[in-house]
Amino acid sequence: MKKLSFLVTAGPTREFIDPFRFISNPSSGKMGYEIAYAAYEKGFEVLLISGPVNMAVADKNIKVIPVVSAVQMRDAVLQNIHRFDVLIMAAAVSDYRPHQYNENKIKKSDASITIILDKNPDILNEVNKSGYSGIKVGFAAETENLTDYALDKLHRKKLNLIVANDISKQGAGFESETNAVSIFSDTHNRVDIPLAPKREIAVFLIDYIVEYIRRNKKVV
Ligand code: C5P
Repeated sequence: MKKLSFLVTAGPTREFIDPFRFISNPSSGKMGYEIAYAAYEKGFEVLLISGPVNMAVADKNIKVIPVVSAVQMRDAVLQNIHRFDVLIMAAAVSDYRPHQYNENKIKKSDASITIILDKNPDILNEVNKSGYSGIKVGFAAETENLTDYALDKLHRKKLNLIVANDISKQGAGFESETNAVSIFSDTHNRVDIPLAPKREIAVFLIDYIVEYIRRNKKVV
């Protein structure tokens, strides 16, 4: 098999309302950074597209494109994706962005204010529309009906694999050092990985993807 290449997204996106306020989520970026590192350590080519995080890549030779908003992440993914065999969307992309950006800081007043939100682009959907034929791996963070929601996302976003975590579980999810995940494939396989450091989960995931490709002969 040829040397595989991985494009990994990580972290949250920020959707600015004015120069000082934004809508975001508590994603630390840790899972995506560990995945990028695990792929790099195995000798694969890696590009990490990262939202704003308080973290550096574990090896400075890993290429990183920093982005802030979902639209910027979408643009960076679409510009680069066709050079990569595998896309891993570990980023927690904000679903909405403010309709209007205020150039100046919004002044406090006694009245309540309304912020209208527009839907952000779904990056995976746009990757599908672009005709990308590589392997697509998504993430699903759920608080209920994990299996149903994950399988629904797998089909709707035309993914090969989806990594689902129950973020209501102690020690799993956004800001945690550890995670517990289930990986579902479009070939009807499921594997559950109990609570483990994110680094271990990342190594397992990369091995699992390589095995998936080998078994399904998707990349030569
Ligand atoms: O947010 P959601 O649960 O739909 O995320 C599922 C997958 O879709 C994740 O891999 C995430 O990175 C990706 N996603 C995306 N574009 C968005 C929102 C999520 O590609 N706007």
